[in-house]
Amino acid sequence: MYDLIILGAGTAGLTSSIYATRGGASTMIIEKNFHGGQIVNSPKIDNYPSLANVSGFDFAQNLYTQAMNLGANINYETVKEIDLTSDIKTIITNQNIYKTKSLIIATGATHRKLNCENEDKLDGKGISYCATCDGAFYKQKDVVVVGGGNTALDESLFLSKIAKKVFLIHRRDFFRGNKSTLNKIKETKNIEIITDSIIQKAIGTDSLNSIEIKNIKTENISNLDISGLFVSVGIIPESDMFKDILNMDEYGYIISGEDCRTNLKGVFVAGDVRTKALRQLVTATSDGAVAATNCLEFLLD
Ligand SMILES: Cc1cc2nc3c(=O)[nH]c(=O)nc-3n(C[C@H](O)[C@H](O)[C@H](O)COP(=O)(O)OP(=O)(O)OC[C@H]3O[C@@H](n4cnc5c(N)ncnc54)[C@H](O)[C@@H]3O)c2cc1C
Repeated sequence: MYDLIILGAGTAGLTSSIYATRGGASTMIIEKNFHGGQIVNSPKIDNYPSLANVSGFDFAQNLYTQAMNLGANINYETVKEIDLTSDIKTIITNQNIYKTKSLIIATGATHRKLNCENEDKLDGKGISYCATCDGAFYKQKDVVVVGGGNTALDESLFLSKIAKKVFLIHRRDFFRGNKSTLNKIKETKNIEIITDSIIQKAIGTDSLNSIEIKNIKTENISNLDISGLFVSVGIIPESDMFKDILNMDEYGYIISGEDCRTNLKGVFVAGDVRTKALRQLVTATSDGAVAATNCLEFLLD
C-alpha cells in the first residue's frame, strides 16, 4: 500500500512527487506514455520565471531528473479502472492492482481534434498535432497551421523556419494569442494569414495533398495544395475515467479550488486537468506543490 499515488508524470505530477517524497510519503507515479507531458512538444519556453529560452524537452527532462534524484518512483502503465469509494483507494492498471491512502490526479490535457472530413484517415499522414515533433518532415514544403491561440502562433513561427510557406488559418478575424507574437508573424514573409475560414475537408489517399477551405462570411469554398496540416485548436482534459466519480464542469475539467481538493476526501487534482483560469507550467508546478502539501496534511489526520 502506498501513502500516495500520482496519476501522470507531467509538470504537475512530477512536482507533486518532489514535494511528497521530500515530505516522507511513500509515493508512486503512474504514467501511461513517456514522462514530461505536453511541454515536451514546445520548442521554446520564455515565460517560466528564471528560465528564459529553454526547450520544452529540456524543461521536462530537468524536472524528471530532479524528481528521480529526490526518490521519485514511476511505473509506466495504463490505468484501466479506479475505485475511490472507500478510504483505501484501488487503482487497476494493465499490469497491477495498487492500493493507496491518497491520490493526486495530474493527467493534464490532450490536443483537440479539428473534426474535419478525413482527419482520422490522414492523421500521421500529413496531419499532425505537434509542430516540434513533426515539423522537420516538411522542409521546403507548404503547410497550414489552424488555430487562433498562442500555440498556433508559436507553431506558425517555428514552421516558418522549416517550411517553404506557412498558411495560418483561423475561423475568426482576430487572434486570442499574444500580440507581440502576432506582430512577428505579420512581419514574417513566408507566413500568410487566412481569417474567417474553416477547414472542411482534408484531401489525399495515402497522404495529405490538399484541403478544402470555406470562408464563413462569404461562404466561398476553395482548395489549397499543401503537404502538412498542423492542428492547434485547443486542448481537452484527460478526465474521462473520473466522470462518474468526481465533480466536473461542462468541459470535463475536475472541479477544485486553489487548494487542489476534489469532492472526495484524500483525492486531489493538479495541473491542466482541473478547473482554473490559467493553464501554464507555472500554475502546474504551483498546483503540484499545493496538492502534495495538502495531501501530506491529509495523511497525518
Ligand atoms: C505546444 C505547447 C506549448 C506550450 N508552451 C508553454 C509555454 O511556453 N509556457 C507555459 O507555461 N506553458 C506552455 N504550455 C502549457 C503547458 O505545457 C501545460 O500547462 C502543462 O504541461 C500542464 O502540465 P500538467 O502536468 O498538468 O499536464 P501534462 O503536461 O498534460 O501532463 C499530464 C501527464 O499525464 C499523463 N496521463 C494522462 N492520462 C493518464 C492516465 N490515465 N494514466 C497515467 N498517465 C496519464 C500524460 O501522458 C502526461 O504525461 C504549452 C503546451 C503545449 C501543448
